[in-house]
Amino acid sequence: MRTDERTLAYGGGWLDRAGALRADPGWIAARLTDPESVLLPLWRDRCLVSADRAPVRRSAAGAAELRAAADETVFLGLDAGRALFAVDLSGRGEAEACALAGAAEAVDVRALVGGLGAAEAAVQAYAKGLLHWHRGQRFCGGCGAATVARDGGHTRSCTGAGCGRLLFPRIEPAVIVLVEAPGEPERCLLARHRGAAEGSWSTLAGFVEVGESLEDAVRRELAEEAGVTVVDVAYQGSQAWPFPAGLMVGFRATAASTEVRVDGDEVVDARWFTRAELRERVAAGRPLGRIDSIDHHLLHGWLAADD
Ligand SMILES: [Zn+2]
Repeated sequence: MRTDERTLAYGGGWLDRAGALRADPGWIAARLTDPESVLLPLWRDRCLVSADRAPVRRSAAGAAELRAAADETVFLGLDAGRALFAVDLSGRGEAEACALAGAAEAVDVRALVGGLGAAEAAVQAYAKGLLHWHRGQRFCGGCGAATVARDGGHTRSCTGAGCGRLLFPRIEPAVIVLVEAPGEPERCLLARHRGAAEGSWSTLAGFVEVGESLEDAVRRELAEEAGVTVVDVAYQGSQAWPFPAGLMVGFRATAASTEVRVDGDEVVDARWFTRAELRERVAAGRPLGRIDSIDHHLLHGWLAADD
């Protein structure tokens, strides 16, 4: 793969996250009343969109009511010098949140992604992931006292006497692997996951566990789910996947043998496909992975190679 990272949805580093500036509460407060600043309202992990399904963006000028109604307002970054904030209206009912934001409805960003520009999709996903984290971290896991947002919403700190624990947004990495068979013909391993639609095949993936490197996780997942021993584990690229807290890390690996033994639990079937077979599937209108996923990019990157 190793393509331009901006070809993968939800990432791309579109904003200047202004790490030093956001640590200054006075600077954040000034940005919140700066008429140049822009507010992105969200409701319970969903984008608030207008009737034509464009995410609502409000100028900070005249948005006092919106801000006053928010559970949390977090600084996302600077977009060409203008500050962008995400505003969480999750504590309100859906109709009230829409009315406050001037929106027609609330829609998941993954349902909108085909119609959004890459920067808008990335910023909406980022806002969703960060606000989701805040909603789940209102109390300290050490002493149980309330926590408060700091650094423009990029940390929370415990208010408990003598505690002061700092909480940082949690990222949960997962590996996703395109496994090639040894020898000829060139084939790759795809699996059918329990609960997936009939005839739906995808690459193998799983969460990284404590005490594992990414490569350890690749070897374990393939052994557990497909009974395959892999060698030559090679990094391909990564994708922000804040649904709610993922980071997808893509690899290619080569199997030591073509023997496959699925776990029958998460994976109900796995088999080897040639490029010709996969091209036939695509030509027949059966897509390989969601268009916005790294799975899709891994498979199409492999298909693009010569036979
Ligand atoms: Zn505490």
